[in-house]
Amino acid sequence: MLKPFLIALAALTAVPATAQVEARQLFGAVDTATSGSAEPFGSYARGCVAGAVQLPETGPTWQAMRLSRNRNWGHPDMISFIWRLSQQAVTEAGWNGLYVGDISQPRGGPMLSGHASHQLGLDADIWMLPPDQLDLTRQQREDLSSISVRSEDQRSVSENWTPSHLAVLRAAASDPAVARIFVTPAAKQEMCRTAGEDRAWLRKIRPWWGHNYHFHVRLNCPAGATQCENQAPIPAGDGCDETLAWWTSEEALNPPPAAPGTPAPTPRRQLTMADLPQQCGAVVGN
Ligand SMILES: [Zn+2]
Repeated sequence: MLKPFLIALAALTAVPATAQVEARQLFGAVDTATSGSAEPFGSYARGCVAGAVQLPETGPTWQAMRLSRNRNWGHPDMISFIWRLSQQAVTEAGWNGLYVGDISQPRGGPMLSGHASHQLGLDADIWMLPPDQLDLTRQQREDLSSISVRSEDQRSVSENWTPSHLAVLRAAASDPAVARIFVTPAAKQEMCRTAGEDRAWLRKIRPWWGHNYHFHVRLNCPAGATQCENQAPIPAGDGCDETLAWWTSEEALNPPPAAPGTPAPTPRRQLTMADLPQQCGAVVGN
């Protein structure tokens, strides 16, 4: 019985020590980006980014929120997108700009709390709260909360939803750099009802759980980023169909209890360095 044991031991020791470490511990401990050119490695929920850029804490038309989290880092494409969209929030929606929530950690990767994705510097959460002022102090940016655009029963938008929200989301979805945008299903239903003739942009607006206090913008892999994996393409059409209606159905919002004897779903395992593209070891400095 010793021989199989020795073979197993040899296999274990062949793996570099850091390969079994929880990736979020390593990525969560680094507070600066790598220097050099920007490149995402892997997929949105399993990857990292080299050469990320920090979104300036305050710009002419935005403020980064919750600065203590140090998640205002992104691929340069994301930083320029936020610059663009925040200007359009002024011109298209009459807002003062945007409050920007989490983008990524300085080197992307898994996080110690929240978010399965946001690992490539290509995802950003934008608050549903139109900015009242763009000179909030650091402390105010910790204390202020966004608003929910969804009703209590989750079946419709709340009184916080306005046509200007549609204008901001339309501008975001119309941007060629954007792959998809996640919103609360009730918000997509409202936009389907009120968009009018010009509705091709609705295709990129995707219903998802949560996303009532913010919308989540996901950019395409940048041109030439050969190690970046795009998501599968969105189905054809504007998505204003029965698949959207399902999200606010009784079945979706109040699922029947599982039958006796059904095994409980296994909790998601934390990613280790071995789960990430090999380049991420160098990116995080291990
Ligand atoms: Zn998000």
